[in-house]
Amino acid sequence: MEQKFFDIHPKLEELAAQVEKECAGVFARTDEIGEYNSQKVLAAFIQNGVSESHFAGSTGYGYDDRGREVLESVMAQITGSEDALMRHNFVSGTHTLTTALFGVLRPGDVMLSITGMPYDTIQPVIGITGENCGSLKEFGVEYRQVDLLDDGTPDFDAIAQAVRDKRVKMAYVQRSRGYSLRPSINMDVMKRLIDTVKQNNPQAIFMVDNCYGIFTEKLEPTQLGADLMAGSLIKNAGGGIARTGGYIAGRRDLVEQCAYRLTTPGQGKEVGCTLNELPRMFQGLFLAPNVVCCAVRTAIFAAALFERLGYRVNPSFTDRRTDIIQSIELGSEKGMVAFCKGVQRGAPVDSFVVPEPADMPGYESKVVMAAGAFHLGASIELSADGPIRPPYAVWMQGGLTYFTGKTGMLLAAQTMLEDGVLSLPN
Ligand SMILES: *Cc1c(COP(=O)(O)O)cnc(C)c1O
Repeated sequence: MEQKFFDIHPKLEELAAQVEKECAGVFARTDEIGEYNSQKVLAAFIQNGVSESHFAGSTGYGYDDRGREVLESVMAQITGSEDALMRHNFVSGTHTLTTALFGVLRPGDVMLSITGMPYDTIQPVIGITGENCGSLKEFGVEYRQVDLLDDGTPDFDAIAQAVRDKRVKMAYVQRSRGYSLRPSINMDVMKRLIDTVKQNNPQAIFMVDNCYGIFTEKLEPTQLGADLMAGSLIKNAGGGIARTGGYIAGRRDLVEQCAYRLTTPGQGKEVGCTLNELPRMFQGLFLAPNVVCCAVRTAIFAAALFERLGYRVNPSFTDRRTDIIQSIELGSEKGMVAFCKGVQRGAPVDSFVVPEPADMPGYESKVVMAAGAFHLGASIELSADGPIRPPYAVWMQGGLTYFTGKTGMLLAAQTMLEDGVLSLPN
């Protein structure tokens, strides 16, 4: 006798089945990317001779840690880079990006963001917000920005102009939309950005915030000519298994400079013990293409379902994707809270917690969030959040498996139904 584990309205289940059929073509394209990237990663493991002895880990200074070296060599191969850092010592994506920025920028240099205002947590690093916290600005690095056009796409003419100044040491791109409604930078647009920068200032370092992006397409920015990129291991690249950490990949000389900043000038990559984290980092990286594929499928399903339910979604389910982020405009505070309550109800961890809007440091409006993850704050696991203000949008991402991600989205809709903020179409 088959059991029903969740109480989902039959009409909602029917709609979900229809929506899933409509998504078949889009799912097939997503799966093809997942298969390609899985083979890419598998080949890198094989060609680097990954072996059980590499999982042993080290303590203290971490000299001659063979596992660490092999892991970083695997990551370099996967990203088409000369070298990489992949360490649990990075405490977050922001820390990883900070290490890269401070690693390569020097007093008097100009950092030019060419995709508008960077992600919230990067702003104090640059010195856009905050005071006396050791920002790049306080160390004499000047920040400039080329805003996006009104439609949220890069302003290529203004970028070509701005990057010509020889003081511009770095052109900085944020691949993922983060918590904005602009389109993410797919790899076709990325290539155009790289070409524009290189044609107008061949010396400039092209750096990418690759958070949420890796493994969503077949190519990574560094395979298209980006000099440096960085991301988090509790997002895509850790496959839901790595417990913390980040990665930096790119040109050898730049990665070396980043290593000097992460550890010390002089010691760089040669130190940094791995404790017991290597098995999880290897296994997480191995699983990452498949997990990212599940997260993208979950986002596609959510886009199609909530579009059918009458909500504005971004991107649409048929749009090409280059990150795992999905925004859904729920139109009211009640809608956002019910959605997040539903996602939380479907979490494997802390499912009994009831999310409520609350003040958050650094935010002007209250924020509501759902997160029931194995790793605190891991957003490759199913999660959703948003500020309580118009257009009352939630940003959802993740799902370690498509089946549980889909269930989470159904529970979000079901909870909206139960809370009286959603009526089902006939
Ligand atoms: C998540 C994210 C960051 C910061 O990473 P944390 O791990 O939250 O510090 C930076 N940029 C983008 C685009 C992100 O999505």
